[in-house]
Amino acid sequence: MARKVLVIGEVRDGELRNVSFEAVAAGKEVANGGEVVGVLLGENISDLANQLIHYGADRVVAVNHPDLAQYTTDAYQQAILQVLDVESPEALILGHTSIGKDVAPRVAMKLGAGLISDVISVEKDGDEIVFTRPIYSGKAFEKKKVNEGIIFATIRPNNIAPLEQDASKSGDVSSLTVDIKDLRTTIREVVRKATGGVDLSEAKVIVAGGRGVKSKEGFEPLQKLADVLGAAVGASRGACDADYCDYSLQIGQTGKVVTPDLYFAIGISGAIQHLAGMSNSKVIVAINKDPEAPIFEVADYGIVGDLFEVVPLLTEELKNVLV
Ligand code: FAD
Repeated sequence: MARKVLVIGEVRDGELRNVSFEAVAAGKEVANGGEVVGVLLGENISDLANQLIHYGADRVVAVNHPDLAQYTTDAYQQAILQVLDVESPEALILGHTSIGKDVAPRVAMKLGAGLISDVISVEKDGDEIVFTRPIYSGKAFEKKKVNEGIIFATIRPNNIAPLEQDASKSGDVSSLTVDIKDLRTTIREVVRKATGGVDLSEAKVIVAGGRGVKSKEGFEPLQKLADVLGAAVGASRGACDADYCDYSLQIGQTGKVVTPDLYFAIGISGAIQHLAGMSNSKVIVAINKDPEAPIFEVADYGIVGDLFEVVPLLTEELKNVLV
């Protein structure tokens, strides 16, 4: 059975986030030969529509409205519901990002639909679609199918590969006017924390430090390693609690969940709550002076040693190879 699938693209600072292209790839699988319609919400975002088409969307609906320039729950919820009214799709897909996590359950509630959140893979089983999602902090995986009503899912960034970009692909881009009212929140200013530039949740390489770095300054060798690798810097809660870094860097059960290609756990013991946020990383490298540290149980490569000796040496070696 072919399905019409709506995929909500996510725009940040005037650019489409990578998870939008991953959502289109998931949408293609769910569509089973049907139409994949990209949806862009924002102000002056029509120019980004072709990118969604190049990554596989058949056409794009652009919803330009001044109240969508910055994300607010009410405005996005209202806009998405109005697009759904006009398009009547069989499936809806968003990224499992801060925005997706906030708005998707509210839209699902309004639709009276179920929501499969934090999906890491989408496969066909005959005519049905099987969604896989981690449960119990990543210790097990469950598989879900939707038997009736709209198929509604959010997908975890960095897990579903985008389709290959085809710059010659074209598709219709239409505009939809929406009516947004009764907003309970107004964004007056967005103040960003300086976190080194690379977004943790979409980073392909992460250099994370724990309490073992011993001070704010202890993060400096990690930042140098990250600079050489073009990586984002993350942290354990131990490091955040000790005020060595900002909580926005925290990875784990109560922090960010990440799935990079390469994860360095440096001076991190490997508590279960930390593993909940990073154990699905493709390759894990642990650096710890304690050979019994539990992080070595999940690491693909382990270096037993003092991080203040190992990290600068590693950085120099990588500089010779990469820079
Ligand atoms: P530690 O456990 O103190 O480990 C420090 C490590 O550094 C040790 O293994 C030590 O051998 C090593 N080390 C020390 N010096 C050096 C050196 N010079 N060179 C090399 N290695 C060195 N934690 C998270 O990370 N994320 C979460 O989201 C999270 N959520 C939580 C939620 C709840 C409800 C609870 C109860 C806890 C949560 N925690 C979380 C905390 C978690 O249990 C651990 O306390 C925390 O992860 C420990 O951080 P750490 O590994 O940096 O510190």
